[in-house]
Amino acid sequence: MLVYVLNKHGRPLMPCKPSKARKLLKQGKAKIVKYEPFTIQLLYGSSGYKQKCVLGIDAGSKNIGLVVTIEDGRVIYKAQATLRQDIRENIETRRRLRRARRYRKTRYRKPKTFTSKWRNGWLPPSIRARIDAHYNIVKKICSIMPIKEIVVEVGQFDVQAIINPDIQGEEYQNGELKGFDSVKEYVKIRDNFQCHYVNLRPDIPCSGKLTVDHIIPRSRGGTDNPTNLVCCCEMHNMAKGNMSYKEFTGHEPTSIRDFRPTVFMNVLMEHLVPRLQELAPTKYTFGYVTRRRRKEWRLEKSYINDAIAIAGIKPRWQDNVWYCIRQVRKKKRSLHEEIPRKGRNKPNREAKRNNKNVKEIVTKSGKWCLWDKVKITTGEIGFISGFTGKWVYVQDIDGNYLQLSDKYKQINPSELVLICRNNNYITQQFISTL
Ligand SMILES: [Zn+2]
Repeated sequence: MLVYVLNKHGRPLMPCKPSKARKLLKQGKAKIVKYEPFTIQLLYGSSGYKQKCVLGIDAGSKNIGLVVTIEDGRVIYKAQATLRQDIRENIETRRRLRRARRYRKTRYRKPKTFTSKWRNGWLPPSIRARIDAHYNIVKKICSIMPIKEIVVEVGQFDVQAIINPDIQGEEYQNGELKGFDSVKEYVKIRDNFQCHYVNLRPDIPCSGKLTVDHIIPRSRGGTDNPTNLVCCCEMHNMAKGNMSYKEFTGHEPTSIRDFRPTVFMNVLMEHLVPRLQELAPTKYTFGYVTRRRRKEWRLEKSYINDAIAIAGIKPRWQDNVWYCIRQVRKKKRSLHEEIPRKGRNKPNREAKRNNKNVKEIVTKSGKWCLWDKVKITTGEIGFISGFTGKWVYVQDIDGNYLQLSDKYKQINPSELVLICRNNNYITQQFISTL
């Protein structure tokens, strides 16, 4: 386990061992500023020696892997975040309710023209929310560790290299993003990882690894353009050898679907990378590079291991702690609950039907808010997920209820100890057994 450290002015320094943090806290040279992940702030000036920290992000619409590696190969932060999936549904519900209200017995209103929607850079709410979530989580990490560089995976293969094979830049010419690897990866995905000749030459059984085949062989002047390539197994590739398409199959080649960049153009590349650039210099990489690197380093497939591969520094030492982060819905901004009804002077929050929207309660044991991190008397740690009268529901980070009796899900707040309050993200720490 590591303790994250801020300097006197709140800027991040390198993390330290818990023993050192304990000593500093005991001597009164530091104070605790955050419990999850555990972060202290120094109360004296420190020169603050910093190494180069790289943050690797395995971006995704549901799960994100986040890893911070120092240039010497030490992995100092590992996290897996789960994002909310209810944005689209909520927006849909809101739209339905508003529409119903609009068509109730009212005067005629001209239909609205949503010109603002077509403003440059408009994104559907569900995607915008995901981009914002990525940004917010990364911002939190950048506030406790001195991140010098961010690397994010923006897609399975490199669209740029396929559209424009003569693209300039060192990485494209020689590096890992070398054009042809990316084209091969693209062709395999386009053809659904299926051998093109499986039905054309059924006399030859498919076997071996999947490769790509040149329809017009290279030796006869065929190019590496994706329109001249099909996905093909090793066996058929070998059998075809130097033959032309017609000699091998007896047919003229059907025209291969052309590449449509808009279909594959990645939202992440266009919108996430510039946002992250605000936090630290951001580079991007592609799935096929990550996959190859992860296999080379003998890491199992997981969001965190993918992020290690994305960060691009071979791990030599790993912290045994990893964090599970979950995005939750803290606020519900229903206008009809915030504004007094006609003829009244108080908002409508007291109504019985609004009980499900309670965000906090005050009991003899104190104030309890939604998503407070608490410890129950059995020693388990959970989060307050809802209220029923003066009692609360407690869930673990995966959404399972923690119960004190077999019969009831609700727990009396007097059985709880508050650990910390939370906003839109809840975090729990786990020890990896590896
Ligand atoms: Zn085949």
